[in-house]
This record gives sequence, C-alpha cells and structure tokens, in this order.
Amino acid sequence: MKTRANTSEIQGKNFSRETKAAAFIRDALPKVQRCKICGGYLHNHSISIDHKTRKADGGLGSLDNAQLTHPYCNTTFKN
Ligand SMILES: [Zn+2]
Repeated sequence: MKTRANTSEIQGKNFSRETKAAAFIRDALPKVQRCKICGGYLHNHSISIDHKTRKADGGLGSLDNAQLTHPYCNTTFKN
C-alpha cells in the first residue's frame, strides 16, 4: 500500500536549516583552531605551541603535551 506524499516526507529529503547549521559546524569548526588557554580564535600567523605541563614541572616536548595557544597567552597566562 502506498501512502500519500506529505510535507514531512518532503522535509525529510531536504536539508532543514538546523541540519545545514549542524553540517557547517561539523565541517567548519574543527578547522578553526582555538587557543587552548583563552578559547579565542587563532590566526595562522600568530600561533604558539604551549606545553600543557610546564617544562619546569617535568613536561616533555611530546605531541601529547603540546597545545595551540596565542603567543601572548603562552607567555603570560601561567600559574
Ligand atoms: Zn589565547
């Protein structure tokens, strides 16, 4: 038995505004790097690689211990 096409079926094949937004966030945001200290956007020309664990505290120069930050956050936001 065949049911009549209704509006919900049409909406199911088209992208809703929410789906488009979700797709944008899924695909675009991971490429936008944010400072791990202040959460602000990073620009390609001003990225500093910070030690998550400070070298003074035994932090190593390993990938696991690296995080992207603003240069000024890296140098000033230490405690
Ligand atoms: Zn920052």
